[in-house]
Amino acid sequence: MPKTEKEKGFVDIINGRYKPRGVFHTIEKNQPIFDKDTGKLAGVTNPRDMTYIHSYGGEAPFFEGLGKGRLMATRCDNDKCETRGSMYQPFRIYCPDCLRKNTIIDMTDIAKTTAKIHSYIITHRSGAFNTLPKPIKFINVEFEGVVTILMSVLAVGEPEINKKVIPIFNTKAPTYTITDLRFVVEGTSKSELPEGFTF
Ligand SMILES: [Zn+2]
Repeated sequence: MPKTEKEKGFVDIINGRYKPRGVFHTIEKNQPIFDKDTGKLAGVTNPRDMTYIHSYGGEAPFFEGLGKGRLMATRCDNDKCETRGSMYQPFRIYCPDCLRKNTIIDMTDIAKTTAKIHSYIITHRSGAFNTLPKPIKFINVEFEGVVTILMSVLAVGEPEINKKVIPIFNTKAPTYTITDLRFVVEGTSKSELPEGFTF
């Protein structure tokens, strides 16, 4: 059953400090596990409900950007770095070569014009807590000038290696998680996008 507002946990940051309010741990009645053949007790279930506080730290601008329809990446701008100019998507806070803090950049236009499928896998059976429609078409996406590969989901169309794809964003009701970003094959119309998503 969905929780009411009174049963949820919320967090604000006030004066630089995390201030949780509401309910973060809910215990439910456990159930015995009986052996149907012998009638003997074998154990118990252990229902637990926990709200985890996941801090994004330096990656927060990436997740905030998705809800605004922007794909943020990072780039090393250190003059002394051998790999200066390398762009990273997924978003890397620090350059792996010189360990200096990267510059945050907006690569939405690069993604819209150069994204293509590097490889893909279609998953018919997902793990627990899956929220994506099945089968899930996981795609590895490459972008021009970006030295890393991004894993995402193809929401419309069939995956094929080297096929051009376009990013779409959950801008209507952002969840501020990675599922706010998905891709569709080139030529997809606005009316085919999943609920809440825009180009
Ligand atoms: Zn560097």
